[in-house]
Amino acid sequence: MNDKAYDVIVVGAGNAALCAALSAREQGAKVLVLERAPLEKRGGNTAFAGGVFRTVYNGLEDVLRFIPDTSEDQIANTDFGSYSADEYFDDLYRVTHHRIDPDLAEVLVRSSHETLGWIQSKGIRFIAHYGFNALKHEGRFKFFGGQIFEAVGGGRGLSDAEFKAAEKRGIVVRYATRASALIEGRGGIEGVRVITDRVAEDIRAPAVVLACGGFEANREWRTRYLGPGWDLAKVRGSSYNTGDGIGMALAIGAQPAGHWSGAHACAWDLNSPEFGDLDIGDRYSKHGYTSGVVLNANGLRFMDEGEDFFNMTYAKYGRVILEQPGQSAWQVFDSKVLHLLDPRYRTRQVTKVTANTLEELAAKLEGVNQRQALQTLREYNAAVNPGARFNPTVLDGCSTSGLAIPKSNWALALDTPPFEAFAVTCGITFTFGGLKISTDAEVIDMEHKAIPGLYAAGELVGGVFYFNYPGGAGLMNGAVFGRRAGQNAARHAGSR
Ligand SMILES: Cc1cc2nc3c(=O)[nH]c(=O)nc-3n(C[C@H](O)[C@H](O)[C@H](O)COP(=O)(O)OP(=O)(O)OC[C@H]3O[C@@H](n4cnc5c(N)ncnc54)[C@H](O)[C@@H]3O)c2cc1C
Repeated sequence: MNDKAYDVIVVGAGNAALCAALSAREQGAKVLVLERAPLEKRGGNTAFAGGVFRTVYNGLEDVLRFIPDTSEDQIANTDFGSYSADEYFDDLYRVTHHRIDPDLAEVLVRSSHETLGWIQSKGIRFIAHYGFNALKHEGRFKFFGGQIFEAVGGGRGLSDAEFKAAEKRGIVVRYATRASALIEGRGGIEGVRVITDRVAEDIRAPAVVLACGGFEANREWRTRYLGPGWDLAKVRGSSYNTGDGIGMALAIGAQPAGHWSGAHACAWDLNSPEFGDLDIGDRYSKHGYTSGVVLNANGLRFMDEGEDFFNMTYAKYGRVILEQPGQSAWQVFDSKVLHLLDPRYRTRQVTKVTANTLEELAAKLEGVNQRQALQTLREYNAAVNPGARFNPTVLDGCSTSGLAIPKSNWALALDTPPFEAFAVTCGITFTFGGLKISTDAEVIDMEHKAIPGLYAAGELVGGVFYFNYPGGAGLMNGAVFGRRAGQNAARHAGSR
């Protein structure tokens, strides 16, 4: 396309970046991917993810399209549901308090289904996400909308398959290479300055896609933008997402967008390490609180555990846990609901206590006001409405009465031993603030114009998520805009 070694440089090597690289290559561009991490830690947050995509789908027909080896048994025993564009819009607008950029929302929702097919065409395979987004009730599994397609092997499997697809198509990946600045000329972007082993080097190309994550792994930026206390959050994923791409773009006049004081953060094992561990992946997550009760160190409840399905609340409850004394909480369950907890609760690396009575359990909750904890559990039990029909696959309206903080659904008394409790803290996933982009994934400057040759996708884009997040939208967002960014970057390079 031009006489330079590369037409398009993609900064980052997560899902958004590799979708950009694959799509630019599809247009005939020579593509270089810069990955800050060494090979064994490659893939960003994508490699830590559950690997689930939120997409519009039309029932069994699409299940069979994306998962052709769905068994007869699964078909007979599963209500796969469906997820319309209208439902996707409703969820996005509701959880973001109607702040989502409507143009970006339009592209994300309307392109989701087709983009999943495009990813599949690159060799990524999917399975149905049983056990998390489908629960068994009265002998039959039911998916509760939106999140059904999981990449085989989860996030790690997705990442490996995307790298494989890239390598197969001749896309060059340079590991342990950190982009540090954008090079600009009279006509726009001309390349990227990188640092390898502390040595700087300029790599030229007429188009650059920034897809190198948010600033969740940067303790100082977290405290500066998210606020006091965020320095104490654990990082669920990559340690390499420190806001470099956002910083580089702002330095040449890009416009900030979105919820800079907001982040996706959820319940995460109290004793997890500072950053994610690729061998553990997503297994420190603890999203089963909808089936139980959550107590803080004062022995008090502080959130409506049953406000909505977990995939509509988990991403905002990390912040609520961070605000509790000791930045921690205990999730408490009785044996009636233990079978509903997803497999991550049965991982070896878990902070858990078990007891045969509530008194014994309260005594085992380290760091908690035990007397108050016991009183809270008893008050909760007394407030559960008798006679309501529990059904974990729908918003069942099984609620409490008379509590200052209600439990709106799935409220069952904790009365059947053994009891189990899990200690959690706040794990940050990614930050919501970032760069302003157009629907063509062009980076917009402070004069509201596109910066020629500069594109962005994924976590470092602002304007999509505010306050909260519907599960599975991160990978879908990265794929949709990564694909657009790559396509438009290649076209721009071709025109130079
Ligand atoms: C534990 C966990 C579970 C999750 N589960 C899901 C899920 O099931 N479904 C879902 O939709 N989302 C999930 N997410 C969120 C999802 O992972 C992210 O939204 C998505 O992966 C972001 O993709 P990305 O390409 O924008 O960023 P990333 O995948 O984080 O990639 C960023 C890349 O940039 C690189 N990089 C950073 N700085 C530089 C630099 N200066 N130079 C070069 N490279 C750089 C990084 O090394 C990395 O390769 C999960 C996240 C975590 C942490």
